[in-house]
Amino acid sequence: MTAPMRLAPGGRMWNFSAGPAVMPLEVLEQLRTDLLDLAGTGIGILEHSHRQPTYDRLLAQTMDSCRKLGSIPDDYEILMLPGGATLQFAQIALNMLPDGATADYPDTDVWSSKAIIEARDAVKANISVIFEGKKFKYDHVPTDGEMTPTPGAAYLHYCSNNTVRGTRYPTPPKAAPGVPLVSDASSEIFGRPIDWRAHALVYAAAQKNCGVAAMTIVIVRRDVIARPVRNLHSMMSYEAHSKAESRLNTPPTFAIHTAGLMFKWMLKEGGPAEFARRNAAKAQLLYSVIDSSGGFYTGLSRKECRADINVSFHLPTPELDHQFASEAAAEGLDGLAGHKDAGGIRASMYNALPIEGAQALAQFMREFARTRG
Ligand SMILES: *Cc1c(COP(=O)(O)O)cnc(C)c1O
Repeated sequence: MTAPMRLAPGGRMWNFSAGPAVMPLEVLEQLRTDLLDLAGTGIGILEHSHRQPTYDRLLAQTMDSCRKLGSIPDDYEILMLPGGATLQFAQIALNMLPDGATADYPDTDVWSSKAIIEARDAVKANISVIFEGKKFKYDHVPTDGEMTPTPGAAYLHYCSNNTVRGTRYPTPPKAAPGVPLVSDASSEIFGRPIDWRAHALVYAAAQKNCGVAAMTIVIVRRDVIARPVRNLHSMMSYEAHSKAESRLNTPPTFAIHTAGLMFKWMLKEGGPAEFARRNAAKAQLLYSVIDSSGGFYTGLSRKECRADINVSFHLPTPELDHQFASEAAAEGLDGLAGHKDAGGIRASMYNALPIEGAQALAQFMREFARTRG
């Protein structure tokens, strides 16, 4: 095999992995320093106690930069919780959905389907599926007219960016009057601005735009925390985590520190509005190749709601999909095989992927279509 020809800065691969995912080189280099010596303490980040002043400062700064970066209003609390986004599928229902009540769930892809199953298992309530994307092979998110929201529902849960097939809500869905939104923003948090007032809770697994897997950022209105709907084990209770300031037990200190560095990096680069612009520009490079390929590349999602961050498509045959992904990897473009449920190709381009990565992939796509089309 010849050496990869399209490498990223630092001699690294262009990483299109869906998650864990690409991180900025400067953050990784800072982490390398902090592993041995955090802020001149002579002790590495993995070795610091979570009950000492160094960690107090680190946590306060991390929360501060998160609030600044997201323009998160003061009446929302930020929690950094152990467990992936998947744990939230149950935890949200446990904390917010009383027995016998209803919550609305449009089903738009793998992750929202899982959220439905977990919520059903967690509580004795009515999980109302108000849109069945499966009927459309999950090729779009619902328009408001395609949903029948339940008046008086406890909340409407939706997945704002569908990581697997690459659809996203252009604007948040409309719940019944007075019903708050709950959003799984795992694959796009800080990739575009969020309308906080429409949401009671927004959560995101950290391994896409914020660093380390197995930690989840939960941003929740304080009145939700203050009004728990049932008694819970402390580890499942937002109220308990909130009272303990996200260190009810030994927290994922390394993941929290890494998220802090990611927040600072995203702030320095211009924040969610700037990343929305960059992500649209990256996506446009790929979609224009897809749209002008004469049917060689076919997108998995409808144009009006296709995602900027996860671009999904397929080639004329599964064999060509496979060849595409493996030849791309040999050239320095890694992580392009689609999710097992969707097949095809998926290019995930999180905030940390520079536009040059998208340019390299677009170029590869044009060449591949020319030689195999
Ligand atoms: C990645 C992802 C998840 C799953 O996160 P885990 O940390 O693996 O539980 C959930 N929802 C969305 C939208 C995702 O992209």
